This record gives sequence, structure tokens and C-alpha cells, in this order.
Amino acid sequence: MIAEPGQILRQVFGYAAFRPQQAEIVAHVMAGGSGLVLMPTGGGKSLCFQVPALCMPGLAVVVSPLIALMEDQVAALRQQGVAAAALHSDIDDEARRDIRRQMGDGSLKLLYVSPERLTMDGTLDSLARRDIALFAIDEAHCVSQWGHHFRPEYRALTVLAERFAHVPRLALTATADARTVEDIRSQLSLEAAPVFRGGFDRPNIFVRAAPREQERAQLRGFINRVSDGRGAGIVYCGSRAKTESTAEWLRKDGLDALHFHAGMDGADKRAHHRRFARGDAVVMCATIAFGMGIDRPDVRWVAHTDLPRSPESWYQEIGRAGRDGLPAEALLLYGAGDIAIARHRIQESPASDEQKRIERSRLEAMVAIAEAATCRRRILLRCFGDDLEQDCGRCDVCANPPKLWDGTVAAQKLLSAVLRTGQRFGVGHVIDVLRGRLTDKVAQHGHDQLPTFGVGKDVSDVTWRGVARQLVAQGALDVAVENHGELLPTEAARPILKGQAAVMMRADMIETGSPAARDRERASPVTSDNPAFDALREWRKSEAKAQGVPAYVIFHDRTLAEIADRMPSSLDQLAEVPGVGATKLERYGDAVLEVMRGV
Ligand code: ADP
Ligand code: ZN
Repeated sequence: MIAEPGQILRQVFGYAAFRPQQAEIVAHVMAGGSGLVLMPTGGGKSLCFQVPALCMPGLAVVVSPLIALMEDQVAALRQQGVAAAALHSDIDDEARRDIRRQMGDGSLKLLYVSPERLTMDGTLDSLARRDIALFAIDEAHCVSQWGHHFRPEYRALTVLAERFAHVPRLALTATADARTVEDIRSQLSLEAAPVFRGGFDRPNIFVRAAPREQERAQLRGFINRVSDGRGAGIVYCGSRAKTESTAEWLRKDGLDALHFHAGMDGADKRAHHRRFARGDAVVMCATIAFGMGIDRPDVRWVAHTDLPRSPESWYQEIGRAGRDGLPAEALLLYGAGDIAIARHRIQESPASDEQKRIERSRLEAMVAIAEAATCRRRILLRCFGDDLEQDCGRCDVCANPPKLWDGTVAAQKLLSAVLRTGQRFGVGHVIDVLRGRLTDKVAQHGHDQLPTFGVGKDVSDVTWRGVARQLVAQGALDVAVENHGELLPTEAARPILKGQAAVMMRADMIETGSPAARDRERASPVTSDNPAFDALREWRKSEAKAQGVPAYVIFHDRTLAEIADRMPSSLDQLAEVPGVGATKLERYGDAVLEVMRGV
């Protein structure tokens, strides 16, 4: 029997309506069609295959690259009363037998499986004997060498098109970059299938970026402002060592911080992953290796302490915040050195010229976002082919438009200080010269005798660093990253020095210290003065602990907030709350009403 998708959506998942695109994709798959789904992280990709899986007869097979991810999704589905299981190298014989039995009697609806396990002959043979409803290939960009998550095992998935030609294959990813999309289509034999493209905006994520002036103070100020002791946060760092040192000082600051990077052994990775999935107010300091397994919907903020290499990476990483739709924030800290280092890295990489050209244009797009003087989200979304009709009002530039100033004279002063000191010094020394500081180094080199000595006395260090950084961003200045960070004017500096080109600069705004109360209000997703919400969270915590599952698989924060708001006094009223499906109502309804009566 084929169930009706809208009914499954309401009954099992407790949601009233599909999001744009979801309904179309579900109908397409149920009609036997294959396709590629491009939606941002948190856009609602899972329902695109979970709903058809429950509507159609047979077993839905979901390919997933990470054990932790599979486990959490299966736990969440089971909470909703769905017969789901995960098949991977880490499960014991008993669990495997159980899966085989459930496949045999047709009771299993969703099987999550790692690509290497799926493409083993035994697994394929056993699937070939069953009625397969669909294949979902999650995180499909793993099949592409162009991205940074290439998984060779994904290449073997071509076998699905050959052996199961009539079974719909739905590939899903948040990477929208054209090159990767083409690669997915050809690798998974989806050339003839439609591409479903969701809107890429995630309006609940407030985006901001700032020059890295005092990293710790800036990060501390940000975390204090956006976190209210609930939910989780992620700090992305540019190196493994930095993830460890950052976690360490955050712990000294009293936060529950841990690190994650590809150099850790498997058991440690899993343990940290688990702590992140389950802890309250936990902070993960990680390299980009930490990513795909993050299913937690209540990540409240994501910070980057180094410049990401492309808008795609940045958006994917910040997209891990606020999947529950509640307010979340992203902060990017970056410096002139990051830009220069990234450029040099591309230059010196062994990649083909074509690949370098692509990497370079991605990087420059990222620099443009970081240096934005107009709505940051519009610039960001344009990279994904989305054009906002107006400024977003949900980014730092919209909230607080930076002053633009004519930096031509400042740029000339700085460039000439660089030239007169022989292009042998980093930004610190050049600023000492400009500001007329008689340091030992200045005296030793006789730089106090230069005509540029002290010409920039009245301008702050922060502003001078901003001038230098913006000249780097605009390509007029290079930084010798393989040496000692000497500043080197490029060809593009010549017209500026000659007065033939004007340079507009953005006044940098550096926020540290403690926040205004108004800001705190804006960032805090749920009012903390609702005792019902707190009581529900307490109840959920003990329930999750008793079952050994992450709290959010019981109910999302958003659902609890809604319940606290409505204060239902009957099961019928509770059933109306979005996120409360039939199984959860049956399992937890009485307990929730009990909590309601207690407040
Ligand atoms: P993705 O896999 O694209 O990152 P998810 O499938 O995890 O996103 O969905 C993100 C969040 O949105 C989840 O909390 C999910 O329950 C919720 N969601 C998805 N579709 C709907 C819908 N139609 N109505 C309400 N919430 C939804
Ligand atoms: Zn904006």
C-alpha cells in the first residue's frame, strides 16, 4: 500500500507542511524518478528520502559516509517509531543478524549503510533479492575529487545504476558549486535526472566578519554574547595544533570545550563526537575534518579563527548552526596573512593550472565576502546563484553599516613607508615607522631619519593594519609568507602611489569585551525566563540519559519552546505542536503533560 506523503509528514514527523521543493522531490521519487538535490545544510534534505521511504513499499537504502551520522539519524528515526537500522563495520554480529531478520520479514523500512559495506558483493546480492524502494546517497559531494571530502569508496556506487537500474537514486548534497555538481551527476549516472535546487538562504543565521585583532578577546566576547549556556558551538581553526590550544584556553575560561581533527585516533574522534552530540553548551574546536557527522539541530554559533578557502566551505561550515530554525550566529575572524598564505598555497600547489584558477577564484570570492562593505549575505548568496532582492538586515554590515573613507593618502603613506624601508619588513615595523615610534629596530636601521617617519602619528594601529590588509585584499600589496611576512608592493600599487587610482577603505569595527543587553536578547534563541521551558529541558535531559541518546532526538529545542509557549493540557492539544508526531505523542505525551502540570 502506498501512503500519502502529507499524512506521513504529519503523523510520523509531526510537521504541518513540506518546505518548498520537498513536496516536488518526494513526488518525483515516488513516481520512480532519480535526481540530485542541492539544498543548504539544515534545508531539510532528509525528509526528501525519509518520507518516500515510509510511503513506498520495500526497503529504502541510505548511503552515509560517517558512522556517527548514521547512528544519530537512526536513533532519531526510531524515536519517531520508524523501523530503521545502520549497517557498518562497527556493529556486532547480533545487530547484523537482527538487520538480516528484519530485511527478511520486510519490517525494516530504512537501512543506513556505509558505501564500503554497501558495495560488498554479499550486501549487493542480498539487496538484489529484496524489494528496494529507493537509494538515497547522502553527502553526495564525497564522490567528487574537486571537493575537500573526497571518499574513494563513493566511486564504487556506480554499481547501483548498473545493478538496480529501475530503483530511484536520490543524491543529496549542500555543495552547489558547478564543478562538483557535474562530477556527482556523471559519477552517479544521473546525467539525465533533474537537479532540484533549493534556495540557499538560511535567514536565521546572523553572519558577521571582522579583522582578527585580538583573537581571544574577540572570540570570548562573541561566545559570551551568543551563548546562554544552552546548545552548542563550533570554533573552526586553521590547524590541528590550534584546535588543541584553543580548546585549552576556552576550558580555562570555564567552558566545556574539546578539540577535533583528522590526526586523532578513531576512538578519540568518536568519543569527542559523542560528547559534542550530547553535551549542553559544549564547544568544539575543530579543523574542517569535523563536519559531516554534525546532526545536532541546536548548534547556536559557529566561529572561524582563520579565513576559509572558499565561500562553499564557509557556508557549509556555518550552515551547521541553527538547523532548528532558531536564531544562530556566525563569526569570521581573518587577517592579511591568511589571505596571502592562501594565495601562495594555491600558487605553489601541484594542481593543474585549470584547478588553480578555480581555487583562486573561490578564494577571491571569500576575500570579497570578508571585506564586504555592502550586505554580506547578498555577496555570499550570489556565489550560490541566489540573488536577494534587497539587503538582508541579518548581517553585521546591514546592522551596522561601516563607514567608507577615502584611503588614498593613507595607502600612499603606507606603500611609501614599505618602499623606503626596503621591502624587508613586516606590518608591525612599518606601522612603527608610520606612527613615529623610536623602537630599537627603528633606531638600528635609521628609519627615524626617513621622511615617512611619523607621518601617520594621528592614525591608530588598528586602522593602519586595516589599511595594510585592505591593500593586500585588493592585490596592491603582497606578504612574503614563506619568509618573515615582509610587505611587498605589487604592480597594482604603482597607480596608487602615482595618485592615478583612488582607494576606498572600510573603517574596521572590532568588537571585544562585554556586550550590550540588546545584543544578548537578539542572539538568545529562546527566552530563558520561561520556567516551563526549563522544566521540559530538565525532563528531556533525564529521559535522554536513561535511553542513552542525544537529547534532541527526543524533542528539538524548538518543539520544547513551542510546548512551553502553548502550555497544552491535553494530548490532543499537544499533538498540534509542530515536531510532535504520533509515536512521540504516545511515548512522551503523558510525561510532558505531567511536566506542564508541575509548573
Ligand atoms: P539537511 O539534511 O538538509 O541538513 P535536515 O534534514 O536535518 O537538513 O533538516 C533540518 C531541520 O529542519 C530538521 O530539524 C528537520 O526536522 C526540519 N525540517 C525539515 N523539513 C521540515 C518541514 N517540512 N517542516 C518543519 N521542519 C522541517
Ligand atoms: Zn545583510
